Amino acid sequence: MDTLLALPTPDMLDKAADILISGGLVAFPTETVYGLGANALDELAVRGIFVAKGRPADNPLIVHVDGVHMAQRVCVWNNMAQELATAFWPGPLTMVLPRRGIVSDIVTAGLATVGVRMPDHPVAHQLIKRCGLPLAAPSANLSGRPSPTRAAHVMDDFDGKIPMILDGGECAIGVESTVVDMSGTVPTILRPGAVTPEQVAMVLGECRVSPAVRRDLLPGEDAPSPGMRHRHYAPRAAMTLVKGDPEAVARYINAAYNKTDSAVILAFTPHLLLYGERRVRNLGPDAATAAHRLFYILRELDDLGFKEIYSETLPATGLGLAVMNRLARAAAFRIVDAGAPTPAQGPDT
Ligand code: AMP
Ligand code: MG
Repeated sequence: MDTLLALPTPDMLDKAADILISGGLVAFPTETVYGLGANALDELAVRGIFVAKGRPADNPLIVHVDGVHMAQRVCVWNNMAQELATAFWPGPLTMVLPRRGIVSDIVTAGLATVGVRMPDHPVAHQLIKRCGLPLAAPSANLSGRPSPTRAAHVMDDFDGKIPMILDGGECAIGVESTVVDMSGTVPTILRPGAVTPEQVAMVLGECRVSPAVRRDLLPGEDAPSPGMRHRHYAPRAAMTLVKGDPEAVARYINAAYNKTDSAVILAFTPHLLLYGERRVRNLGPDAATAAHRLFYILRELDDLGFKEIYSETLPATGLGLAVMNRLARAAAFRIVDAGAPTPAQGPDT
């Protein structure tokens, strides 16, 4: 199959809508990452997403809508959901709510709930409006690869496998949406994103963060969200996070780096000089820049064939929680404390 990579002109949006209405797949930009969309009400079309991505059938899809009215067609709305929608939609917030029968088991992976979101991107919005359909759309990457933040990333993974990719340039945010479970009495963050737990608590008075957001699942522990069972955001290189005082972190990383010829370092702008002439990628001065750059950098490093990545960490507050979550998952939760290294934890310093 030829994959059409198109700018989102009115003609091309019409074409994309036709493909979606007739059961095909279209990748499109959102403000978080690119999505791989299909008609959420067409079971066969939705199956196509799982096949194209190689996505495990137990990992549910998020349904993208053009507003509260469409959301109410797929889930059972409530007052708290309305308050969050008023505050954060359109935007990077997915709400998990009881599903309606119109949504198939394939979309929800058999769960009684469905994730819904109204994206804040004119192309996504136009596309949903033109189809008049809710679009099931996970991130447009092969399962296990870093999420795509540019159309070229989607081409890398899906050229020849899907009919069309709409190119909307770079995604503004760069990490996937916040997922908040609204089906219980207390809103609970299942996946951190650009809408922070602090912001949700400002609106609703309280907000829990699922413990599995900050650490790996324990053996035998039930995953509050199926996505937690899978190793997402994985680069091909072995990645290690190093936390602690910046100078101690740099000493640890430099020693590890010096023992191999295929390592690269991820560091924040204020610390770049601590790494001398070594290969470093700059995560930027703050969490928002790191979110914007992270997946792009991980894909670039994969392409260059590095075997080891050593990364600094950042405080897990505000948007830092989302960045740390993605870094930790990319590193399979391999985190070293440079403040108190022991011989068992890693290289000598
Ligand atoms: P992606 O579509 O690739 O951004 O991944 C969607 C994420 O949302 C997955 O990690 C899912 O685990 C999570 N998710 C979607 N629907 C639900 C749901 N009904 N309950 C819990 N988590 C969900
Ligand atoms: Mg994904």
